[in-house]
Amino acid sequence: MEIEKKDIRALSKEQLRDFFVANGDKSFRGNQVYEWLWSKGAHSFDDMTNLAKGTRGMLESNFVINHIKVDTMQRSEDGTVKNALRLHDGLVVESVLIPTKTRTTACVSSQVGCSLDCNFCATARLKRMRNLEPAEIYDQVIAIDRESKLYYNHPLSNIVFMGMGEPLMNYNNVMKAIEMITSEEGLGMSPKRIMVSTSGIPKMIKKLADDDVKFKLAVSLHSAIDEIRARIMPFSANFPLADLRESLEYWYRKTKSKVSYEYVVWKGINDNQESVDALVKFCKYVPCKVNLIEYNPIDDGEFQQASEEATNAYIKGLQSIGVVVKVRRSRGKDIDAACGQLANKEA
Ligand code: SAH
Repeated sequence: MEIEKKDIRALSKEQLRDFFVANGDKSFRGNQVYEWLWSKGAHSFDDMTNLAKGTRGMLESNFVINHIKVDTMQRSEDGTVKNALRLHDGLVVESVLIPTKTRTTACVSSQVGCSLDCNFCATARLKRMRNLEPAEIYDQVIAIDRESKLYYNHPLSNIVFMGMGEPLMNYNNVMKAIEMITSEEGLGMSPKRIMVSTSGIPKMIKKLADDDVKFKLAVSLHSAIDEIRARIMPFSANFPLADLRESLEYWYRKTKSKVSYEYVVWKGINDNQESVDALVKFCKYVPCKVNLIEYNPIDDGEFQQASEEATNAYIKGLQSIGVVVKVRRSRGKDIDAACGQLANKEA
């Protein structure tokens, strides 16, 4: 029986160095291979032209490089690009490039499917199939960086973890991917240009703060009233807003970094003054900004975008206490690339 070969990118630089020493070679060979794998993005051992043929063959017989493949790429009328990416085991995840005049943002996935159950999100219907490996997250970023250069003539400027999955439920792999994205051996991107979006898992938010991360944090709030939040995001029944608040206060004390709240206003759900007042109150606890996201329908009658008046009531309430609030128009709707629409329709 053939033993399944390990993905070489699961090895740290030290482990690679040790591997070469254990095989009678010099440890610096590990550095060379590491550079090929990460900064140069080699897809095969044969690409590693400064290694002897025998060394390449030895790597080949011990490891694989499980690169993701761009299966299909769709371009929206507004310039948004959606990639369906095939993983080595045949599963598919999606990631999105969102261009504006001054920057391009990559929206990346952290899991195949999602274990949470937000009723308004298409990804939730897929259930969670598995966590993405650090290299699989990194590859999404590299693919978008390449597309950004190709179509918009500049490298990727920002990354948001707002694709498929809950990043804080794949904590270690997301952290490793970000380490690589920000390190000089990877993309060398500033962590300030990266935002991790969570549905709000208090324990993990505290862990982020303890780990002294330098990237930004967004929380998908959608309601500051427990009963309503539990109705639309059932998992949150286990994480009351009081706990979320406490974890965010902890986050801010440690990081001094403002939190962004993501919020959709739906007809008949949170389009009343009581909901506005609750959000305004919640926003006083921790320095924050609010992004009012346009709802992207997912073939479901239950959720509908609220009226403009309802949105304006939120804007008015938040501005009255000096909170910066932005209304985010959807991008890439025509190709199902907008928030909450990633669901592998092609797969
Ligand atoms: N699990 C993470 C990241 C993925 S969702 C999180 O919950 O933050 C990215 C954002 O899209 C979240 O704010 C989410 O609430 C929002 N979203 C999900 N479905 C949506 C939809 N149909 N329309 C608009 N926004 C949606």
